[in-house]
Amino acid sequence: MPTGGPRANRSGAPGLYLHLPFCSAICPYCDFSVLRAGVPARRRFVDHLVAEVPLAAREWRDPTPFDTVYLGGGTPSLLPPGDLARVLDAGREHLALAPAAWVFLEANPEDVTAAACAEWRGLGVRTLSLGVQSFSDDALRFLGRRHDGKRARAATDTALAAGFDTVSVDLIFGLPDQTPETWRRDLMAVVDVGPGHVSCYQLTIHPRTRFGVSARRGQLSEMPEREQATLFDLTHRVLADAGFSAYEVSNFARSPDHESRHNRKYWDHTPYLGLGPSAHSLATADADGTRRAHRWWNERRTLPWERRVAAGERPIAGEERLGRRAMATEALLLGLRTTAGVDLDAFAVRYGIDVLAANDALVARLATEGRLVVTSGPTGRRLVPTRSGLAVADGLAAAFDVPLPT
Ligand code: SF4
Repeated sequence: MPTGGPRANRSGAPGLYLHLPFCSAICPYCDFSVLRAGVPARRRFVDHLVAEVPLAAREWRDPTPFDTVYLGGGTPSLLPPGDLARVLDAGREHLALAPAAWVFLEANPEDVTAAACAEWRGLGVRTLSLGVQSFSDDALRFLGRRHDGKRARAATDTALAAGFDTVSVDLIFGLPDQTPETWRRDLMAVVDVGPGHVSCYQLTIHPRTRFGVSARRGQLSEMPEREQATLFDLTHRVLADAGFSAYEVSNFARSPDHESRHNRKYWDHTPYLGLGPSAHSLATADADGTRRAHRWWNERRTLPWERRVAAGERPIAGEERLGRRAMATEALLLGLRTTAGVDLDAFAVRYGIDVLAANDALVARLATEGRLVVTSGPTGRRLVPTRSGLAVADGLAAAFDVPLPT
């Protein structure tokens, strides 16, 4: 049993991530590996992605079939369904994909039509994840998006009517001029359209983006922490009142069936294979769980990635070996970012450390401050962050001592 993260829908089977980097315009806050390119370059890219699959498959040792496939990016919905099918077919040919593997597709609202949804469903897509970001025209203009609020609503309605198992809506908060009232309106809009899953991310200004340039010039800054905390709390309150359960810092589902089967693998050290530029992979190195692991990542930029694939090489740019201590530290961090928290008994078995005993004064202080609680029940003892603990989860985890041999 992994040590943290939500409990529902956990399979232990690996997940496959495919990075499709194309976007019709590059948003000023985006720090992903993305680019704009015409149809010939997109086609060439798909040829290379198809070619990367057998290169990676030769060295992927985990015999368990992949039970999730995530088409992310970038804007995968920009590619014709026939190209997406070629990539999925390569996965089926060279990797063990479970017949009922759950396929996720990221889409931008401007690409969502009833016909496109029907084609995506024909490819086996079960979760459509919409890059809505806001239902407010002003916020969307600030974020440099090509759709407006009306289009965002229409796209969500169309996706919901198309019969996907889950429609997920991504929103961004923490815009410089945003007030609790304007953010509440966005939250109420998503509640009103009624998807099964919502992700709410805080705007971060990355140095290598256009917003980063504006920030260096003093024209833009991130929202002060205190105001961010107010919006974070508001997010959790409004969505909880509307029937969404938070299961991770940024993720909310109407029921456990709508929780992301794929993202959970990142949070509990389930193995995953990432293909395409910038994609990350993780393989665990011991049979009974996740005490040691190997993580590697691909060339970030598309051209060097393509050159290496064309030469028959794996396009790996870097790697790290994670020992027991690194795994334990990550497991604590990832667990404290989820509402299920950290399973203390499983943690003790896996890593040989009693987190409570090693951090008794810290846990007592954080409990008094209302940041976390220790629960015990039929599934054992758990260290569970409260809402105010979730808001500062990374800082909480950093305060813990994980006294393990390296
Ligand atoms: S659409 Fe998404 S992936 Fe593409 S540039 Fe904008 S934020 Fe980045």
